[in-house]
Amino acid sequence: MNSLRHKDIKYVKGIGPARAELLSKQLDIRTAYDLLHHFPTNYLDRTTIYAIRDIASEEAAIQLRGRFVGFSIAGEGAKTRLIGVFTDGTGSIEVVWFNAIKHIRQTVHVGEEYVLFGKPNLFNGHWSMTHPEIDTVQKAFEHQGMRGVYPLTETLRNRRISSRNIYEWICGVLDSQPVFKETLPAKVVDSYKLMPLDQAIRQVHRPSSPALLQQARERLKFEELFMIQVDMLMRSRRRKGNSVGFRFARVGNFFNRFYNECLPFPLTDAQKRVVREIRTDVNTGHQMNRLIQGDVGSGKTLVALMALLLAIDNGFQACLMAPTEILATQHFETISKLVAPIGINVKLLTGSTRTKARREIHEQLADGSLHILIGTHAVLEDPVKFANLGLAVIDEQHRFGVAQRARLWAKNTTPPHVLVMTATPIPRTLAMTVYGDLDVSVIDQLPPGRKPVTTLLRFDEQRQQVLHGIGQQLREGRQAYIVYPLIDENDKLELRSLTEGYEDICETFRSYRVAFVHGRQKPAEKDHQMQLFASGEAQILVATTVIEVGVNVLNATTMVIENAERFGLSQLHQLRGRVGRGADRSFCILMSKRKLARDTRARLELMTQTTDGFVIAEADMKMRGPGDIEGTMQSGIPFELHIANLAADGQIIQLARNAAEVLLNDDPSLSLPENKAFAIALSNSIKRSADWSKIS
Ligand code: ADP
Ligand code: MG
Repeated sequence: MNSLRHKDIKYVKGIGPARAELLSKQLDIRTAYDLLHHFPTNYLDRTTIYAIRDIASEEAAIQLRGRFVGFSIAGEGAKTRLIGVFTDGTGSIEVVWFNAIKHIRQTVHVGEEYVLFGKPNLFNGHWSMTHPEIDTVQKAFEHQGMRGVYPLTETLRNRRISSRNIYEWICGVLDSQPVFKETLPAKVVDSYKLMPLDQAIRQVHRPSSPALLQQARERLKFEELFMIQVDMLMRSRRRKGNSVGFRFARVGNFFNRFYNECLPFPLTDAQKRVVREIRTDVNTGHQMNRLIQGDVGSGKTLVALMALLLAIDNGFQACLMAPTEILATQHFETISKLVAPIGINVKLLTGSTRTKARREIHEQLADGSLHILIGTHAVLEDPVKFANLGLAVIDEQHRFGVAQRARLWAKNTTPPHVLVMTATPIPRTLAMTVYGDLDVSVIDQLPPGRKPVTTLLRFDEQRQQVLHGIGQQLREGRQAYIVYPLIDENDKLELRSLTEGYEDICETFRSYRVAFVHGRQKPAEKDHQMQLFASGEAQILVATTVIEVGVNVLNATTMVIENAERFGLSQLHQLRGRVGRGADRSFCILMSKRKLARDTRARLELMTQTTDGFVIAEADMKMRGPGDIEGTMQSGIPFELHIANLAADGQIIQLARNAAEVLLNDDPSLSLPENKAFAIALSNSIKRSADWSKIS
């Protein structure tokens, strides 16, 4: 199999240079190896021959075996068609051709036995088939079984490359190889009873039965996931084993003074535990790479801050990065306020930082007088040079891929400690893959006094009742959010419904002040509006999702989400996390139209049933399947997946993880002869994907 990585597809029978270039551009298929790893997404089933009498549906392509009893031409000009009557002794069917008529007349003969393969159509009570594949019985026998159907692009279709072409090219490669040597270690194949590579790669393209196909797919998925796990584990073992990291041995003045004098409330036990885990990590002499998972509102910021202080106590600088400007700004404000009494120099760097301020930041970073830099991706920009970066905290990790983390490492000769925080809890098996090289801490406790948010699903005709409920909360001195989906800030229609919503609310609640925030406002205006709400001068905030990561207003007890059906589960969960932060009972009202697709309804109903972020994340993945989440998650891993699905293959991920641990316990550097083929396959896969060399 390894040698096929060097075989250019232009030499595969039937492809040639022009098509090779197309395949490379359109599907990223360059070598015979890539071609074999372009897996079918579906199968045509040629395992059975149907009797014409038994044809019952138009759904699937089927095979018929019989003879033509005659041909005739019908229609004229462009509508000319050839009709053949085909019979198998149980009934007869019309077979229709609109083109290639001459060719069919010459090659298909009355009285000879053929196997047809195509989709039946029912018209006026009669079954027919248009342009079926026609094989002699002998040929059909060769095609027996199931056959892969391959994903294509529009361009490929326009250039007349069909799934059948791809199938045939793949068959060409399969037939030219007497055997594909096993790449997985024999012990792994044995203990997990995996189908051998040779059989799996053939079965996945040309299955001889659904059961064997299933085994083939499992084996190939296992292989991909196993490679990821081995790679992740090797990396984390290498890091812990020999990579040098800064030692933060001291708990000094900053940490202690903050803890004793500035802490606004006692830490929760979960926060304390995670701070302890971090302290242990940064004192081992190896680089820390830790992920903190904690639901919205679990108090990650404070934990991050304690870690930042630890770095400063040990004479280092530290940075905190967030994915959006609003979030970075909020962190900056929270943290500067918290540390003001202990005299720490904190600065904010984002895309909109002015040149002069930027220059000052660069200078203070270089001369060491800046302690904490908070910012967006701007922090990764090249001119930013730290005198001695000891710790980098990354908030909302899933938007920061492994590659971006690698750029941070490059800012030092000794890699800084890294702490990543995510508010989107992800299922354990997924964390194992995407964050497989990280140690994981979980803040599994919310600060005391929080009451679960009561979540209700309400339809448009119940709006009056909802408004009444909001009014009641307002009269009790509470505040409310009303959120509109604005997926595209430039969409005029969406903007109009937002503006109308705002005007309606102003009209309904005339005696209250309504703040209004959306992404198209100037930053100063946005800040001003946010400030109105945060200070309590405005009692209602009408907003788009810009508030998702933005504000923290304890007095807000109602969150109304308009067109809730347009949001994903995780997003709804994040939004809901904006209320229920104080000690009062809070409400989240999901507004939607009454007519909903079944799964949309299920999604909204789940929100009314649970507030557990992990349950929601798990459900979100199942419902959205290999869509969005997988896309973002894939950016976190060093391989391309061809067949495995991070969202759906949790069980296999777990097996692969176990197998990887056993393998590396026996052979930490994969140098035993029996693991050699696997070591080569692994390093080839990594090389193909990108330059990940900086990560360790
Ligand atoms: P997240 O984990 O979502 O980033 P934050 O760090 O923003 O959460 O904290 C959410 C809210 O909880 C903030 O208002 C914060 O001040 C408050 N908070 C954090 N830790 C505690 C605690 N131990 N006790 C009470 N409130 C806390
Ligand atoms: Mg946060």
